[in-house]
Amino acid sequence: MNSMELEFRYMESGRWAEMNPSKCPCGGRGYVLSDLDTWHKCSVHGDGVVDMDEEEGMSDAEREAYVAGRKAAKRAMFAEAFLYFANAALAAGLSKAEVRAAVRLEAGPGEHSPAEWVDAADAVAGRLARDVAERAARARGYSCALEREWDNDAREERAEARR
Ligand SMILES: [Zn+2]
Repeated sequence: MNSMELEFRYMESGRWAEMNPSKCPCGGRGYVLSDLDTWHKCSVHGDGVVDMDEEEGMSDAEREAYVAGRKAAKRAMFAEAFLYFANAALAAGLSKAEVRAAVRLEAGPGEHSPAEWVDAADAVAGRLARDVAERAARARGYSCALEREWDNDAREERAEARR
């Protein structure tokens, strides 16, 4: 398989997707244009998106309905991403009130867009996940999570070499 086929397969797999729309290569639009000039559906944000080709043939009324639908879908997308990170923070051991306070602190004072709230929740959940990984690594006698990761990598490599 050549590198173009590999790239195409990877893009088709959707493994590049990120839960946070702002960090996802699709930018929350649901589709991404590859280096090969081909469009690929995002595995997280691609559902419910009208195909690019379909959009071109729309009447004004259809387009209006489409835009309204996209706005609602976008709100739902940010809400879903926010919940995902809030739930991850809850799973890491914070209470609902603590999650709310941590996200509020991360976002800073004032009004924020849905995207900014998602970024704040993403940052809080990410920090907690790293804390949990650090604690788990130390509990197993490693100095830090990174050392444990290296050890796991080395073990996998040794297992790979035996095959
Ligand atoms: Zn995406």
